[in-house]
Amino acid sequence: MEEPSGVELPSKATHQATREHNVRLVLRALANLGPISRADIARRTRLTRTTVSDVVTQLSDAGLVREVGRGPSSGGKAPILLQIPRDARQIVGVHVGDGHVRGAIVNLAGDVSHRERIDLEARDGAAALRDLETLIDRLVGHARDVPLGIGIGTPGIVDTATGMVRWAVHLDWRDMHLGPRLRARTGLPVYVANDSQAAALAEWTFGGHITARAMVAVRVGMGIGAGIVIDDRLYQGDGAGAGEIGHTTVAANGIRCRCGRTGCLETVASVPATLERVRVALGSGTMPDLAQAVRAFETGHPAVRAAVLESALYVGRALGALIDTLDIRHIVLIGPMTTFGQDWFATVREEAQRTALPLLAEPTRIALGNLGPDVEELGAAALLMTAELGLSRAA
Ligand SMILES: [Zn+2]
Repeated sequence: MEEPSGVELPSKATHQATREHNVRLVLRALANLGPISRADIARRTRLTRTTVSDVVTQLSDAGLVREVGRGPSSGGKAPILLQIPRDARQIVGVHVGDGHVRGAIVNLAGDVSHRERIDLEARDGAAALRDLETLIDRLVGHARDVPLGIGIGTPGIVDTATGMVRWAVHLDWRDMHLGPRLRARTGLPVYVANDSQAAALAEWTFGGHITARAMVAVRVGMGIGAGIVIDDRLYQGDGAGAGEIGHTTVAANGIRCRCGRTGCLETVASVPATLERVRVALGSGTMPDLAQAVRAFETGHPAVRAAVLESALYVGRALGALIDTLDIRHIVLIGPMTTFGQDWFATVREEAQRTALPLLAEPTRIALGNLGPDVEELGAAALLMTAELGLSRAA
């Protein structure tokens, strides 16, 4: 027998995987704890000082780490501190919205340097795909160098591992290989996720919730979805659909949902559902837009207030169920509905606290997101950054 038996020697592939793992550990330490010395990186990552020095040299050659002065001396020579330069790389972050595609150029700290937007003419999936490609071409053209890659957030069920959009109901995309298609077109790494899941990553990565160990971000817009981050990772479920709370049946109202069924949470608490209720409250024949509805709400119009706060009650109950299901104590609300502001938010929070088990609700913190209207693009960028560099929190 020529075949060796017993001891398995590490293959070339194993060495490569170990090196990549070490690079990610060092990058993560730099992102979370920088400015930090080589010795402290070694302590935090439990890598040897030699390994850390080698990785730092490699990262420095790639422009991903910079010396930024010296830290306090602990007796000997003061240690050199290292940091990831905010602008070391640029990322293209894109949101396939309802009626438009929007994108931004984002650096490793979540600063936006350029934005593009194309309004979709019709709800035509093929046309939307062409517009998305045009938008990406423009953004790549605006980048300083070749971007690190492209992140995309889209409504629907998205298998991030393969880049396949399994179902995006608003554009009737089914089993569409969006990631591979855009990768072939641009030659860049492309990652795709559900937009609520991506937005959760944005809050996690750039939102400054640094003490949280896990987080749920609930996005309320045209649709409603939750993104769940546990131990620095997006939890997408066995079929990538984790957090699809918008299609839980909550009302016997007979209102048809975009998914084809009736009574889903989206039919009572999303932006379109709320605008329809506001229209009725105003006794108007035409649908108000979100800004008009927010103005009517802020003037204290009683029927409009009741219409909007009814939406908040439904969202609050959905949060209550999430608290009981997951026991994650950090919940963030994001998306267009948050423009109704503190009164909407307070009702959501109170209803969540009221409907969840008190023992679980009491320590749970519910907050509005910190990132504003760029949150989906930032989430798409965070998705790419997490996948390509292993960075989980911004530098
Ligand atoms: Zn539905």
